[in-house]
Amino acid sequence: MDHQWTAHFIAGEWEHEADERPPIPVENPATEQVIASVPAGGAAHVHRAVVAARGAFSSWSTRTIEERAQVLDGLADLLEERRELIARTVTEELGAPIKLARQLHATLPVHDVRETARALRSMEFETELGNSRVYAVPVGVVGAITPWNYPVHQVVSKIVPAIAAGCTVVLKPSEVAPLSALLLARIMQEAGLPDGVLNVVNGAGPEVGQAIVEHPGIDAVSFTGSEATGRAVAQQAALTLKRVTLELGGKSANVILDDADLATAVKVGVANCFLNSGQSCNALTRMLVPRELLSSAAEIATAAAARYAPGDPADERTRIGPLASARQRDSVIRAIETGLADGAKLIAGGPERPAGDALTSGYYVRPTIFTDVDPDSFLAQEEIFGPVLAIIGYGDEEEAVAIANNSRFGLGGAVWSADAERARTVARRIHTGQVDINGGAFNPAAPFGGVKNSGYGRELGSAGIEEFLHRQSLQF
Ligand code: NDP
Repeated sequence: MDHQWTAHFIAGEWEHEADERPPIPVENPATEQVIASVPAGGAAHVHRAVVAARGAFSSWSTRTIEERAQVLDGLADLLEERRELIARTVTEELGAPIKLARQLHATLPVHDVRETARALRSMEFETELGNSRVYAVPVGVVGAITPWNYPVHQVVSKIVPAIAAGCTVVLKPSEVAPLSALLLARIMQEAGLPDGVLNVVNGAGPEVGQAIVEHPGIDAVSFTGSEATGRAVAQQAALTLKRVTLELGGKSANVILDDADLATAVKVGVANCFLNSGQSCNALTRMLVPRELLSSAAEIATAAAARYAPGDPADERTRIGPLASARQRDSVIRAIETGLADGAKLIAGGPERPAGDALTSGYYVRPTIFTDVDPDSFLAQEEIFGPVLAIIGYGDEEEAVAIANNSRFGLGGAVWSADAERARTVARRIHTGQVDINGGAFNPAAPFGGVKNSGYGRELGSAGIEEFLHRQSLQF
């Protein structure tokens, strides 16, 4: 594949020049081969990107809503047209199975952009309130720092609402999977986004990420990643009083009530947990089952797990690929070992390398399920970010809700019941930003984000645009 856009993107120019830092290699996690490299940027690149973004702000922020929405329409069309190239790029850099890359990684961003354009057109940017006229005003230059797990969607869900709001952006994509973000920048340029509205600086978090957070010319930071880094970002951003949005993952509970269709709920729950090799911030990693149904649930889950044999992501039949990096693989294996050491009952997978002749290289782990997991244990409390499911038994509905809320995170969740009204009542008691009822699908127009240590602020749709607006009131 042609990775010609492996450069910084500043003020509409692609900058290949290396500085004193060595370029950052990008690995294919299925083969462990280096497939490209990106130049490592530093504070000087961030500064130039901020200057470009500041320069572009005055004209971009004064474009009409319809003009900005039309740029988004054009972007969505181009993204749709380039779906195959985007999917292949994500498969190469992330190890996502090609089918999943097409259906999810390359398709969801098209919906994200279309929904943002729709939301933009529906929002009121000017209202009358007594003797005031209140204007919604873009916050200015936005710094976006993104992870590798959904390398296009995570970028789109920050930069597109920011741009829709009239802001300009300095983006630092993950150094683990930067290629699709750079391809996206190229597509945005083709879609007619004016120079300087989006700038991309490649590099390491502690250098480029931190320089973004510290820069006084950046007005707001939107970050997705780990809890620890998110906390550091918020602390650092406080020094320049930047507005901050944090999306920091979770430990979401899948509450299966006693009247639910157990087979469907467990199978869908397993599929959700293993999606994207378990590398989803809102993955349903805790499955809560009535104690008397634990052994039936375990049986269904084991059978479901058997259908997730790790395989070559380029193969159309593969449902689960490797993890994104050696570091991620090692950390997931350590988590599985901790679960075993804590005495949790293993019913699928384990810490050993998966079998299979084709898997002699690559950062593969076995899709793993533990049952009878203690709700206070490591397996039930920590975000593992790999295909590891913890099944937990509960006595009654009260206890199910208590266990669901026994987490320092609060991003997602699910409830299953034959009675949708009962499910809704339980869902409303779960302290998270989102809850899916009876397999309700992801909605790219609905506010997405967390509470507690999952962060604050919302992405997607009109809530995502709001994140990048402030209000100015004029009194008459
Ligand atoms: P990080 O939080 O370290 O990385 C997320 C982004 O932040 C990356 O772009 C990273 O840069 C950048 N970054 C790192 N350090 C700083 C800093 N000091 N200042 C500013 N930006 C910084 O996550 P990891 O990739 O290390 O993943 C570790 C764990 O995080 C996972 O196992 C998972 O539990 C969780 N995670 C959660 C995600 C979510 O969706 N909420 C997504 C990804 C991970 P760099 O390119 O150098 O990595």
